[in-house]
Amino acid sequence: MIYFDNNATTRVAPEVLESMMPFFGEEFGNPSSIHAAGRAARTAVENAREQVARLIGCASPGQILFTSCGTESDNLAILGSLRSQPGKNHIITTTVEHEAVKKVCAGLESEGFRVSWVQVDDDGSPNIDGLKSELTDETAIVSVMMANNETGVRMPIEEIGALVKARSNALFHVDAVNAAGKVPIDLTDSTVDLLSLSGHKFNGPKGIGALYIRDGIKLQPVIVGGGQESGRRAGTEAVHQIVGMGAAARLSCSLATMDSVRIMRDRLEEGILESIPNSYLNGTPNPTMRLPNTTNISFEHTNGEAILARLDSVGICVSTGSACGAADHRSSTVLEAMGIPYSRAMGSIRFSLGRYNTLVEVDRCLAALPEIVSSLRRLSTV
Ligand code: PLP
Repeated sequence: MIYFDNNATTRVAPEVLESMMPFFGEEFGNPSSIHAAGRAARTAVENAREQVARLIGCASPGQILFTSCGTESDNLAILGSLRSQPGKNHIITTTVEHEAVKKVCAGLESEGFRVSWVQVDDDGSPNIDGLKSELTDETAIVSVMMANNETGVRMPIEEIGALVKARSNALFHVDAVNAAGKVPIDLTDSTVDLLSLSGHKFNGPKGIGALYIRDGIKLQPVIVGGGQESGRRAGTEAVHQIVGMGAAARLSCSLATMDSVRIMRDRLEEGILESIPNSYLNGTPNPTMRLPNTTNISFEHTNGEAILARLDSVGICVSTGSACGAADHRSSTVLEAMGIPYSRAMGSIRFSLGRYNTLVEVDRCLAALPEIVSSLRRLSTV
């Protein structure tokens, strides 16, 4: 199997799995217990917190809160910051966020909050002037992703953060779920107040996420109960998952493997665009403004799901967009927001590479794809 769907999820690295194994066995303590078994679990959790902090250049590990996934981190960032600023009722976000942000904001909108949805241009970059004009003293939170999960387009986070801080006292949340481990993140002198992460996007296990919360920021908890995670997120810590996320963070601190991933991605992208007529890159053509592992390409007058199925039948896994939207059978809302015409958006495929791919796999995909696309075009009515 050739796996080119690493933005949906990644394979757990063998060294990550190995680090987790003791916590399914003899290391079963509850980190809140004060006896030896509990203390051992606590040490493991705090060690992982340090490893995750290091991945994002965060000097103080106490600013890292473990959650159950990236979705929970996004929900907590937005809901928690609104609840802790009861006088404010305005949120700013973009039209290309992941559903974990979009659906929370849409739900709040239906409850009476005002949400400004900042548009993106056809390259996938947000309209900065539009965002700037929406900032007011009523704005509680601005939520912008670090990189788009479907196109890989990177957002100008520090530019946006500087605007947010200059023109309002809103909190700035960044969904870095699909950026962490692929591009450098350094929160040392950053304008970012809250930042979401998810273990399974960088060769860690599923079901574990983290939220960076800058010191001094009060977030009203969303999950309440016991006083775990310094009272900010209740529930007994999933020690094995946390240890796995920490080990994955350690592995991903060096972005050296991303250099070879970028070479493979570029070869795949260039090869496809050269060999398949009427194929178009979605997102900025500037490769440095995209994640090094992602390319999203439209094959005009064909259907992305049909291409996906044909590639699957020859052992190549790709996606038509976000894995969360895969059951919808409609064109991607991200591509729609970028103004990509329907005839192209319906024929789009996201290739997202990872640390275990090889150039041989890229060449196998390049060998298979032209015939798949041309045979589907012969049959297509799109
Ligand atoms: N945000 C982004 C940008 C994502 O790509 C994803 C997952 O695809 C999420 C949030 C949700 O993360 P999780 O699957 O850990 O809930």
